[in-house]
Amino acid sequence: MEDFTSLRNLMVETQLKTRGIKDKRVLNAMGTVERHLFVSELLKNHAYDDSALSIGEGQTISQPYMVAVMTELLELKGDEKVLEVGTGSGYQSAILSILCAEVFTIERIVLLAEKAEERFKKLGYKNIHVVKSDGTLGLPEQAPFDGIIVTAAAPEIPDTYVSQLKTGGRLVIPVGGRYSQILYQVKKTGSGIKTSMFTPCVFVPLIGKHGWTEGDTNNNY
Ligand code: SAM
Repeated sequence: MEDFTSLRNLMVETQLKTRGIKDKRVLNAMGTVERHLFVSELLKNHAYDDSALSIGEGQTISQPYMVAVMTELLELKGDEKVLEVGTGSGYQSAILSILCAEVFTIERIVLLAEKAEERFKKLGYKNIHVVKSDGTLGLPEQAPFDGIIVTAAAPEIPDTYVSQLKTGGRLVIPVGGRYSQILYQVKKTGSGIKTSMFTPCVFVPLIGKHGWTEGDTNNNY
């Protein structure tokens, strides 16, 4: 039986701090949320590895470093309402839930959404709301958001997200080809948007009306 607390602390020290993650609240959240409870029994001992892991249905729980970078780029202080697209295992939602006031998370694969919902209930995360639908449409009934984080790769920045952000809000999204992307932060300002590019990354595709088409083999990388 592994000592998950030591592994988690080691993950924060060696994978996050050394690579430049500075936001103390993000480091604290990553050191608190029990990542091994968001993967299958079989993968528990790999939960704190420096990599993405399979969560079934052809989907993944993102690499810890990628979760931390994306969370840091949301620039959360504590009182925000955040939309996540791509619930997956629920790990990223759990990190967000201790850094902001309310998390709305959308998942298109019903089985994953239901499993994540069960986890949140069991682990006592009360400010996470799971929605089963096409997240490329955003969540107009709950907009505007202070932050939107998209944990699947988009071919371009969907306007729906920018329009559902508050002025001053941040969108964090991997954009590019089907097999490799760049992580973008988009800030909505009073006069338009300010787009900044960060690290290269590889995410599973965002599939939906304003994303990729399922089974699309039109490679663009
Ligand atoms: N944030 C997740 C976690 O912490 O485990 C990892 C997400 S995984 C990399 C990407 C997820 O996005 C998959 O579960 C996939 O089904 C979902 N997804 C892809 N397209 C979607 C869409 N249009 N709406 C909602 N979810 C979508």
